[in-house]
Amino acid sequence: MSSGKVLKCSLCEEPAVTVVRYAKLRLCRKHFTEFICKRVLKAIERYRLVQKGWRVLVAISGGKDSAALLHILTVLSKQLGFEVIALHIDLGIGEYSRKAREAAEKLCKGLEVPLIMLSLGELLGAGIPELAAKSRRPACSLCGLVKRYLINAAAVELRARAIALGHHLDDMLPYIVKNFALQSLSEIGKLGPKTESGEFFVGRIRPLYEVSESETTLYTHLCNLPVVEERCPYSVRGESLEKEIREFLNSVEVKRPGFKIAFARAVAKNIGFYRKGMTSATNTCRHCGMLTSGDVCAFCRLTERLLGKPMGLDVRSYIKRVSASVKLS
Ligand code: SF4
Ligand code: ZN
Ligand code: ZN
Repeated sequence: MSSGKVLKCSLCEEPAVTVVRYAKLRLCRKHFTEFICKRVLKAIERYRLVQKGWRVLVAISGGKDSAALLHILTVLSKQLGFEVIALHIDLGIGEYSRKAREAAEKLCKGLEVPLIMLSLGELLGAGIPELAAKSRRPACSLCGLVKRYLINAAAVELRARAIALGHHLDDMLPYIVKNFALQSLSEIGKLGPKTESGEFFVGRIRPLYEVSESETTLYTHLCNLPVVEERCPYSVRGESLEKEIREFLNSVEVKRPGFKIAFARAVAKNIGFYRKGMTSATNTCRHCGMLTSGDVCAFCRLTERLLGKPMGLDVRSYIKRVSASVKLS
């Protein structure tokens, strides 16, 4: 807000904490947080992300985006009649993971949401740094593979109907633009507000699909949610193509408020077109029974190579034990 006179909220007498230009509104703390919840509710309805009676597994990293997502879904779950369970994976990345775990536990305790905690150290006897060193694969690519498997396996064991991810507008659009520029159109098919479920695969939903990064940051701050402040030591710093595209999109948004949301909606509307080139896995892994395109899933292949044993089945039993010890409704 500019200096001088304090601007009032457009909806009440309280001082405004932000200006939402695309909605032509100045909003106070209360009305901003309500506004964001309403926007997420509209996205849930528009894209049919959740239905009454569903169990939704929310993957929380300890960071601000997934903290805001869990908070919003907890509020909306009462209104829409679905159940929320949180999942956190302790990746074993030193101090960062310790703090992320602490933030996730504090958040779930405050919101009274059941938390499934999976620790790579307990599960595999090694965290991401050790696994990455052994595999000679970039830490983030290995981490992505492990997280995808664990989140999906947890959702299958818990009989969740959807996995909610904290990806927001500014996460999605740069990848959409990048894949369009490279004409990797089927990749765009994965970047919509949701993916469908199958027998051994639980669909992902992105309720923050139309919420920007600055909005999730402000929401987390105004609701005083516990989050890990530092970044993962493996996260990319400096210039990346996605960062440059993000800056470009934000510069357009400044001149044309609402452009980013209109863009995201247009992609969602045509997502069927982008999905045409996608192939779906139809086999089940001979070790763990999860969906795969070959004979053995990527997680079992990786763990067999690094740890001498395909760990998928052990992971599924571990998740069953952990889930049984958490009070679910
Ligand atoms: Fe995993 Fe990379 Fe993200 Fe760190 S930055 S949590 S290693 S994907
Ligand atoms: Zn107000
Ligand atoms: Zn497997």
